Amino acid sequence: MTALLDARGVVKRFGGLTAVDGVDIGVGAGEMVGLIGPNGSGKTTLFDCLSRVSSLDAGSVRFDGVDISRHRPHQVARLGLARTFQLIRVYRELTVSENMELSIQWARVGPASLFGRTDPATRRRAESLLEFLLLSRLRDERAGALSGGQRRLLEIGMALMSEPKLLLLDEATSGVNPTLVAEIADRLREVNANGVAILLVEHNVGFVAELCHRVVVLDRGAKLAEGTPGQVMEDPAVIEAYFGAEGE
Ligand code: ADP
Ligand code: MG
Repeated sequence: MTALLDARGVVKRFGGLTAVDGVDIGVGAGEMVGLIGPNGSGKTTLFDCLSRVSSLDAGSVRFDGVDISRHRPHQVARLGLARTFQLIRVYRELTVSENMELSIQWARVGPASLFGRTDPATRRRAESLLEFLLLSRLRDERAGALSGGQRRLLEIGMALMSEPKLLLLDEATSGVNPTLVAEIADRLREVNANGVAILLVEHNVGFVAELCHRVVVLDRGAKLAEGTPGQVMEDPAVIEAYFGAEGE
């Protein structure tokens, strides 16, 4: 069986710094995989490469049988790969509903027609996702007025608008209060149960252990370990990377 996402030897440099250093990572259809690692280990940069927000310096990325190593982000979105960002990206001046509706125009046709009309099917999908994410009563609020956790949920909803096969989530729980963290975990479990594969970057290791079938650990841009949550948490190299270094 071929993986839904299959990235090989991904390298990304910033000047003299190699932020991602030859990483292989794969996600199977319907799988939920965690990507963890200390601050600065290259998780977001790897996500940027996988979702084609950044160019690769070496390596390749295949998604659903297509080589996307040189695709543009909206082309990747159209193939069924959606992502969220560590620093939330919503249009703060627009309403929750408007944010949902705009996100799909981007995925479908690219930046050129962002301001086209919203069709009824799109509006219905936005409504049902907002309901699923418990955001219905906030549909006419400006996105800028939401709490951090509500904005995370909105961003997940925006990513789900295009009915992706794979969802890349960068720090879905950062700045979110514990009640909402449990809510996000529930929602993600349900999204995954409906067949959407998820690759989850998290600093919250417990959250990953609870949700993921498999975990990949990055350290200084390279893959340090991979396995079930249990295997990875007991790996001495992982413990050293997390607790051996100062400041973590
Ligand atoms: P993580 O998400 O695991 O915390 P990042 O991918 O954000 O790690 O960062 C990995 C390394 O790359 C860090 O040393 C960071 O400072 C560096 N880095 C990330 N983005 C840039 C950039 N645009 N320019 C220069 N260095 C960067
Ligand atoms: Mg990051």
